[in-house]
Amino acid sequence: MIASRTPPLAGKTGRPELLLICGSSLTVIAILCIVTFLLIREHANAQESATRSATTIAQLIDADVLRTVELYDLTLQGLIAAAQRDDLRDVTPQIRHLALFDRSTTARFKGDILLLDKHGDVVADSSRIEPKPGNFADRDYFLAHAFNRDTGMFISRPFKTRCDCDDANQWRISFSRRISSDTGEFAGVAVASMKLDYFDQLFNSLDIGKDSTLNIINSDGVLLAQKPYLQSDSIGKSFGNRPNVVRILGDKDGSGSFTSTSSMDHQQRLYTYSRVGNLPLTVMVALSSDEVFGTWRRTALLISGATGVLCAGLLWLTWLLARELRLRQRAERELAQLAATDALTGVANRRMLDQSLRHEWFRAQRSGKPLSVMMIDADHFKAFNDRHGHQAGDQALRELARVITANVRRPGDLVARYGGEEFSVILAETDSSGARQIAEHIRQAVEQMPRVEGADVAMTVSIGISTWTATVEMSLEQLLFAADKALYQAKEGGRNRVVVAG
Ligand code: GH3
Ligand code: MG
Ligand code: MG
Repeated sequence: MIASRTPPLAGKTGRPELLLICGSSLTVIAILCIVTFLLIREHANAQESATRSATTIAQLIDADVLRTVELYDLTLQGLIAAAQRDDLRDVTPQIRHLALFDRSTTARFKGDILLLDKHGDVVADSSRIEPKPGNFADRDYFLAHAFNRDTGMFISRPFKTRCDCDDANQWRISFSRRISSDTGEFAGVAVASMKLDYFDQLFNSLDIGKDSTLNIINSDGVLLAQKPYLQSDSIGKSFGNRPNVVRILGDKDGSGSFTSTSSMDHQQRLYTYSRVGNLPLTVMVALSSDEVFGTWRRTALLISGATGVLCAGLLWLTWLLARELRLRQRAERELAQLAATDALTGVANRRMLDQSLRHEWFRAQRSGKPLSVMMIDADHFKAFNDRHGHQAGDQALRELARVITANVRRPGDLVARYGGEEFSVILAETDSSGARQIAEHIRQAVEQMPRVEGADVAMTVSIGISTWTATVEMSLEQLLFAADKALYQAKEGGRNRVVVAG
């Protein structure tokens, strides 16, 4: 063992490994951040382009509905203008019918167009010259006009016609306008009904993809049209209290878009809505999330998978490399230790001794603290060898190294085999009296070492000490020479003794 001294490489333990792990972890984090950012951006792009196409669809429907409603309004205004002409009172019913309903032929999906008097009784009917008696005073549009002169054009809730005709089961809405007398009093209502098939025909011309729906609701949230139907009997029903409809009807701008879950079938959809001009109608395009984000989801899955594999691979490689680094460092440390150790005794070898001696020498020069060097030589070791054999000699040298090391305890000190049966001890920050004390301990301890079988005398050592202090002008070589000389004096003086260089 090398007493109290670690080889130079040991201080760098784990640093490259730590750098490698930190670098790889940061790379993995950076890759994950970049991929996450790109996926979030792609998600936003998918939503944006879906919103754009939904807005286009809503605007197409908007324009068509607006044009159709305008046609109905023109029809109603023409009807009212004709009804108020005095000269039409004296013509034949046929001519009057022709004059009243002349413009109505242009309106698409039209149902009956009626002229009601102020009691709600039918006074003219577009479908027959002699109107069928009937009263519609209870209809919402009649009441709206009767009690409010500023209603303008009124769009009714969806209804089914009261007639026994083939179309009786068809949903309709009606457009109506108030007829006022010269003095501004309520004089009746002109009303035109339209079959809701119109919306079906309009929606059928548009392809919006699977699980998506097109809807038209009125300002009360009543559903006028839907494609495809989410529930079979939803037309004419009010959805005004459903969260999505509340949100859409509450929007003052009248148009916008948001993602939400349908309360009808609980599917996630992207809702884009737009109010039809100034009319109480709103077009609602609800694109299914699968349709909008399907491609994004597939791409995200692929990229996430590939990134996961890449990151896992990178971490695995890092782990392999870190393990290799660790093994290499350990091997290097072991090699360095081996290169600094004496194979027989386990203490530092001559190479390590020279290196440490220079190191401590310069340290002492800088600090001005004393430095002592001890030379220990086994007495009459040749004779010991000759008597007990080389094996016993080796064992004695090992025991000697152990005893010396046991008496040198401070962290800065070093025990080394100088060569043969000779050992050196470097005692940093130790003056000559301290060194003498340690040397004396070593000498006594060696003397008390158990004897080898058959040996008649105890093993002994002679020790020479020299000390450098700041007050003495001396080189490292001179210090070693002085220690050697003191050892020689110890031998000369009768061995088994300690001599401190003067
Ligand atoms: P002195 O008291 O004057 O030091 O006498 P000495 O016999 O110890 O000195 P000398 O230099 O004459 O002999 C040293 C002997 O140490 C020679 C050799 O047999 C023995 N020796 C040196 N290295 C080893 C070793 O590694 N193993 C063994 N067993 N003996 C060694
Ligand atoms: Mg000797
Ligand atoms: Mg010797």
